[in-house]
Amino acid sequence: MNIDKLVRPNINRLSPYSSARNEFTGTAAVFLDANENPFNAPYNRYPDPLQKNVKEKLAAVKGVKPENIFLGAGSDEGIDLAYRIFCRPNIDNAVAIAPSYGMYEVCADINDIEYRKVQLDDNFCFTPADLLAATDENTKLIWICSPNNPTGNAASTDIIKTVAKGFNGIVMVDEAYIDFSNKGSMLEYLADYPNVIVLQTFSKAWGCAGLRLGAAFASPEIIDYYNKVKYPYNLNTVTQELALQALEDRHMVKVWVEELIESRTHLADELKDISCVKRIYPSDANFILVKVDNPDNLYSYLCQNGIIVRNRNRVEKCAGCLRITIGTIEENTQLLNAIKEYERK
Ligand SMILES: *Cc1c(COP(=O)(O)O)cnc(C)c1O
Repeated sequence: MNIDKLVRPNINRLSPYSSARNEFTGTAAVFLDANENPFNAPYNRYPDPLQKNVKEKLAAVKGVKPENIFLGAGSDEGIDLAYRIFCRPNIDNAVAIAPSYGMYEVCADINDIEYRKVQLDDNFCFTPADLLAATDENTKLIWICSPNNPTGNAASTDIIKTVAKGFNGIVMVDEAYIDFSNKGSMLEYLADYPNVIVLQTFSKAWGCAGLRLGAAFASPEIIDYYNKVKYPYNLNTVTQELALQALEDRHMVKVWVEELIESRTHLADELKDISCVKRIYPSDANFILVKVDNPDNLYSYLCQNGIIVRNRNRVEKCAGCLRITIGTIEENTQLLNAIKEYERK
């Protein structure tokens, strides 16, 4: 696997911006190198461009090395940079399972990259052969979201490994919902699969969507390219501070995840006894996809009652479906009561 060969030639040649904070990394008492204001500490200073402290802590939690980690403003930054590093506009293409997370296609469009969808089957599954058959010599990325949004199901690591083995490009594995799944993460196989990039986020299980913090895990070689292409100060000081705090308080993530998984089971049980509910898809995530009669009507009724779910009725393969995020026990009860009331009308 030659990663350098997969990278766009202009990115290979790029001399990245060298910031004041990159050039001098030792300890000093007087910083007169970055044109900062000496007043208003600590926010007068530029943040650490490579987020050393956050990466050290996250590496320990995830069982990887800091060199295996890129941190960005949400997973969305990790998604966009993958196109910018590997895909030549108007020449290269990406292959993805469909339906899946909308940002893969939006970022492909922004970067002028052809986006090839491989439709999932009726159980929202795919085979490695289907994905690989959609590739050609200009396919640089394959997108696998597992657990998948909006379908909720996870693919086994064996299936993902088969795709990675059979593909001479980068396999992007988006594990935004992995904490809610018992199917296992690709993170532990990173060393054996040099063409895999695993995306995780602080927006879901970690409860930090407002911080904008996501991680890409990959070989040090790939991470070097991410660092070369990213904005120098892509993560602000406050996000880095609060990320350290979240990592310190990570016992809470376990507590939240356990409650949400329990509520997911409970909500599915309750929904299945409601007659407008036609099908509840199994979920490895913090949401469930539900097929109902007249989804648009139910959706509007819930909106009118101040309850917002995601209407996926117009997404291919998801006709009739609403995607419902698991909330607090109180919120889930409000939702159930509202649907029961809708039934009675
Ligand atoms: C919510 C979600 C994310 C998270 O994106 P952030 O930019 O980190 O908030 C990533 N991937 C998928 C599939 C998601 O559903």
